[in-house]
Amino acid sequence: MSLVSRTLRLGIDIDGTVTNPASFLSHLNRAFGKRLLYPQVRQYDLIPLYEITPEAFWRWYERHSADVYRTSPPSPFARDVLHRLARQHTLIYISAREPEHYDLTVQWFETQRIPYHKIILLGSHDKVDEARRQKVALFIEDRYENACALAEALQVPVLLFDTPYNQGPLPSLVTRIRSWREVPAYVDAHAGRLCAP
Ligand SMILES: [Mg+2]
Repeated sequence: MSLVSRTLRLGIDIDGTVTNPASFLSHLNRAFGKRLLYPQVRQYDLIPLYEITPEAFWRWYERHSADVYRTSPPSPFARDVLHRLARQHTLIYISAREPEHYDLTVQWFETQRIPYHKIILLGSHDKVDEARRQKVALFIEDRYENACALAEALQVPVLLFDTPYNQGPLPSLVTRIRSWREVPAYVDAHAGRLCAP
């Protein structure tokens, strides 16, 4: 790490990134009578995997999403790494969750003792405009389309958590990672690079 390194505004997704990506499955398996395992989830859209109609899924989501969000466990090492990052950087969570879930989301961060500076719930997967508005210097995501779109539109590095549902070729600014423990090295390197003369 360079001796001088900048404070970065980090854009961070919530579901499947800070929360464990498998946390939706047990709820859906129970609701729709299947036993899907995490490695079998090779696509982001779960509706075809459960062989249900979009209407049935969204009816379920409306009734149960708050419970799922309230009870999602954090990803391994997320808490420790985010505390370390928060000492130097600004943590801006940008999520597709519905804005109506804001209070329970903040409560979740408090209960889980996960640091945050700002939490933005868009109600949409399109994060490019908000990430640009927030001037994020690096983004951390689990959704393939978001990672590619953010890297290409903002020309910032994106760390993509490797999951069965986000496989595919990546633009050069997107790096696939397997653990939160890999994150500080990438953030430090980028912060140092931005300070280089
Ligand atoms: Mg996500």
